[in-house]
Amino acid sequence: MNSLSRRKFLKISGAAAGIAATGTALVRAAGNTSRKAAATGVRKIPTFCDICFWKCGAIASVKDGILWKIEGNPLDPLSRGRLCPRGTGGIGAHFDPDRLRAPLMRKKTRGEEEWVEVTWDEALTFIAKKMQTIKASYGPEAVALFSHGIGGNFIKHTIKAFGTPNIAAPSFAQCRGPRDVGFRLTFGEDVSSPERTDIRNAQCLVLIGCHLGENMHNTQVQEFADAVGNGASVIVVDPRFSIAASKAKYYLPIKPGTDLALVLAWMNVIVGEGLYDKEYVEKYGFGFDQFAAYIRHCTPEWAYPETGIDPELVRATAREMARYRPATLVHPGRHATWYGDDTQRSRALALLNALLGSWGRKGGFYYPVSMDVPAYPYPPYPKTEKGKVDNPDHKYPFAHETITTGIRDGTLTGQPYPVKGWLVYATNLMHALPNEQETIKAIQNLDLLVVIDVIPSEIAGWADVVLPESVYLERFDDLNVEWFRDPFVALRQPVVDAPHEQKPNWWIAKQLAEKLDLGEYYPWSDIEDYFRTRLSGAGLRYDELKARGIILGPKQPNYFDEGVPAQFPTPTGKIEFTSPQLAQAGFDPVPVYKRPAGGPAGYYRLLFGRAPVHSFGRTHTNRILSDMMSENEVWVNPVTARRHDLRDGQYVRLKNQDGVSSNRIKVNVTERIRTDCVYMVHGFGHTARGLRHALGKGASDAQLITQYATDPLMGGTAMNINFVTFEAQEA
Ligand code: SF4
Repeated sequence: MNSLSRRKFLKISGAAAGIAATGTALVRAAGNTSRKAAATGVRKIPTFCDICFWKCGAIASVKDGILWKIEGNPLDPLSRGRLCPRGTGGIGAHFDPDRLRAPLMRKKTRGEEEWVEVTWDEALTFIAKKMQTIKASYGPEAVALFSHGIGGNFIKHTIKAFGTPNIAAPSFAQCRGPRDVGFRLTFGEDVSSPERTDIRNAQCLVLIGCHLGENMHNTQVQEFADAVGNGASVIVVDPRFSIAASKAKYYLPIKPGTDLALVLAWMNVIVGEGLYDKEYVEKYGFGFDQFAAYIRHCTPEWAYPETGIDPELVRATAREMARYRPATLVHPGRHATWYGDDTQRSRALALLNALLGSWGRKGGFYYPVSMDVPAYPYPPYPKTEKGKVDNPDHKYPFAHETITTGIRDGTLTGQPYPVKGWLVYATNLMHALPNEQETIKAIQNLDLLVVIDVIPSEIAGWADVVLPESVYLERFDDLNVEWFRDPFVALRQPVVDAPHEQKPNWWIAKQLAEKLDLGEYYPWSDIEDYFRTRLSGAGLRYDELKARGIILGPKQPNYFDEGVPAQFPTPTGKIEFTSPQLAQAGFDPVPVYKRPAGGPAGYYRLLFGRAPVHSFGRTHTNRILSDMMSENEVWVNPVTARRHDLRDGQYVRLKNQDGVSSNRIKVNVTERIRTDCVYMVHGFGHTARGLRHALGKGASDAQLITQYATDPLMGGTAMNINFVTFEAQEA
């Protein structure tokens, strides 16, 4: 293990020790009610984490009836027995004094956050009546659901039974969508989630704006540590010297927005010097000659004025990648909505991997496998007459999931048909979607806005009804039948009772369905009946899953070399170096670089990312995690700082190109960022009054993202096109 990783793990261990002490104090503060408050001794209960969507297997300990700590489940291939810092601090969600406690109904004008507490029956009866009224006037499609994570499965089921196809998650159009479309166009398959990246076996790992270690997806970070420990060569491309960059053999501080030029130049070198995997490309590739002819002009010298990267460094890194192929993994990243050319940039990353022969090969991209656990035999959902609202006339022809901002547009314009009801599950749309004023305007057109969450987020502040969900340590969720390197099924189960009126999502979804006269879609009386039915269909025992938290299936092949058939479900059945389907739809069949627009003089491109101790804006009232990071900072190069007379540690406000100002934020003057951009961690700067512990701490990048560019292939919203300057300096 390398030195940084050792420090990181020491920090995690230290945090775990701190949790024990902090947790005890929080128990006293929150008046904890446990499932077996009278029990003494330690009980250990397997479950899986929900502090982010990664779903790491965990074992929670309850000591003398009080939630005590949570650790990784050694049986689980995702956590490998270790949780990330957020997962370790997950117990703070149970004790959070700011969490929602009872159903709330709006008292006054939307957005004023004035509530009256109601019973569950009152809240669900009101919602069901409103939904039926909307359905009678506009059809069931006029109700939409925004959802995030596995917890949304049962709400989705209810909404599908109601008859609407308008179900979206920001994880597509605001995050990984362009990446998945770019890889699908090339290999015929998505990168999927968890990513099918064989990091632990990579001998050369290329990270382009991909912040492993800050973006804390547990398995990937552990595998990154393994790869570095095994001596893998790491190449990092980033305008900011990230944690991952500190592990790199080569660091390329690229000018923001020019990544596609660099990738084309790399491919120019690899093809021009004959370094690519010729056998693989000849066997599996389509349209290679046309592709090679196009990239002939994309030399490192051509790319240099765009990227600012020395041509010799481009050549050296291209040769380094070729040296280790096929065990060279050019990581596809996750949050890919940057500049508007995102699908084509992701396609270029896919093509670079194809040249290196890494798809389907050890150290590149493995083939994920899954247990065969049948779905519950529900009645079929009603057919929609109107189709989806988000993408009229297939304006974005390669969108294979619903576009959140497309639903927002439909709600704003009433085209192609009106949308009058939103259900929002576990996603803070005010932070997730760009241009919050557009979101607020769309909300004004609604007859019903329901938010189901564990904390009173900004979007909850605009709701008509807020439903408090129990946190993951207090509830069952759907089975996790994951597509991963190893097949397995995992169970989330309650460890302690919810302390107030909070309810699990499955209960909320079932009750709502019954009030909508859709009880036939919930033939099971209790969720454990549902589990038993599904598991018995797979020949598995629920009792075993409950006791162990996970059941592993037999090992299956993951690579072409192990017998996975090399099939590429593209229209040509090959890896499409030149894409006939893109050409047919009027797009460039080979990615073409276009220079990004700059900002006004004296403004700096706003970049944003993640911190290892927080998930979006969902964890800032978790006292254990906020102890580790309670506010964000804006990273500013010393040259920029001198130009604006900024001191390290002082507070400023950021103002964007449209005159929108942020909350105050602390300046971090650092050489670790270029002079043409600034950087902040996403999710801070909360304005919701109920988030008492997080209110006003740090600044919100979302507030400053008033501009966005829409990817013409799939409708993703690129957000790294905003620029900020500094104002109103304060002590
Ligand atoms: S990556 Fe961390 S926060 Fe996410 S599920 Fe795993 S342990 Fe929990």
